[in-house]
Amino acid sequence: MDPSSSSYQDRFARQAIAVFDAEQLIIEQVKRESVELVSIEEAYLRRSAQDIVAGASVPHFRRSVMDGYAVRSSDTVHASNEQPARLRIVAIVDCGTVWDGELQAGEAVRIMTGAMVPAGADAVVKLEETSDIDEGAHGLQDEVLIKQSVKPNSHIHDEGIEIKKGTPLIQKGARIEPGDMALLAMFGHAYLNVYSAPRIAVIPTGHELLPVEAPLEPGKIRNSNSYLLSGLIREAGGEPHLLPALPDDVDALKSVLEDALQEYDAVITVGGVSVGDRDILYAYTQEWKGKLLFNKVMMRPGGPTTVGIYEDRLLFALSGNPSSCFVGFEMFVRPAMLRMQGVESPDRVRLKAKLAADYITQDTVVRLVRGVMYGGEDGALMVREAGLDSSNATITVRDANCLIVIPPSDMGRPAGTVVEVIPVGRSSFK
Ligand code: AMP
Ligand code: MG
Repeated sequence: MDPSSSSYQDRFARQAIAVFDAEQLIIEQVKRESVELVSIEEAYLRRSAQDIVAGASVPHFRRSVMDGYAVRSSDTVHASNEQPARLRIVAIVDCGTVWDGELQAGEAVRIMTGAMVPAGADAVVKLEETSDIDEGAHGLQDEVLIKQSVKPNSHIHDEGIEIKKGTPLIQKGARIEPGDMALLAMFGHAYLNVYSAPRIAVIPTGHELLPVEAPLEPGKIRNSNSYLLSGLIREAGGEPHLLPALPDDVDALKSVLEDALQEYDAVITVGGVSVGDRDILYAYTQEWKGKLLFNKVMMRPGGPTTVGIYEDRLLFALSGNPSSCFVGFEMFVRPAMLRMQGVESPDRVRLKAKLAADYITQDTVVRLVRGVMYGGEDGALMVREAGLDSSNATITVRDANCLIVIPPSDMGRPAGTVVEVIPVGRSSFK
């Protein structure tokens, strides 16, 4: 770019937006979502595109929760060890079989856990509270001694005791976890409508980037951010498309980006958003056909993060520093991807934790510090810095399970201060 041009000078005078306003602004712009029908097994970790309600009650029949005898409780009122009640066994019901007779006074049905309690019975006596008398003609005992009185409803689960028919179970936008898969199966959903995985292109930029398989060269580094983003995109329910690295050249970027913005649901570029001589993203977004949402955020790392929209496709131009790239993804790309998968208002989980050590860095903008949260000895949630708080660190990206929110401060924060923490990764949103 020509250093005497006005747009070259403008890049130092960008209008900064507050970080959570930026997040909201992006979410409001998301238009792309599509739905597909998948099998229950494929639905794992996808987001449901339908509300699921219980189509039946659970259990849908009166169920024994013990191995024992189904009886009329009134037959056991005076039963004790010394004077057991003597009942005639009229049937045996296993799990999955049904006895369709009706239990009369003086009768018992031998019943297994999970089996349907027959009509006429109002209680189950545990096997341990009974004893055999003698062997019947076919080797089966035909009478049983009940050694304890049982109250009505003992060891019986009434129809609908766990789930009533019509209870909402899975809401549109909810992520299908193993427990949800069990519910889908219980209610006969072999197939489910889910939101399609957003297809996200990743375009790294920088003369210094080497492919993973290349030997190191002086002054050059391997492109690690594409793989960081690949994992993050998958974890957020998307389909990553890693495009080849580009040199710092606006014309090369322009054609690749324009194609990508036609082809994919969203595009992430990495690098070149700052104010260095090679920072081509700024130059590109001054001339492109899309609308710029912002190109400076009041946060660190990732201050120059730039987001725009072309037709209904978002362009996320993240900073190349691994930690900035990570924070940019967590704060802006992940919520947008969730919105594309039916999450009505991506609701970030925010927790409070106590700083385990002094945080001494002063700043004029919010710092989102890679942190590790853990349970303290007094039961309180504690948080410590993951390590080197520098935007070019990668180890801390690997180690962090949260971002510590440090508001602008001219004095840092002493150990013990309660701070806000934002979990990162799959658990960072409901
Ligand atoms: P930039 O945002 O282009 O100014 O890059 C900032 C820093 O991040 C520089 O040290 C770059 O070498 C580094 N960097 C840029 N892109 C990548 C990448 N894809 N993988 C790893 N590091 C990168
Ligand atoms: Mg660069």
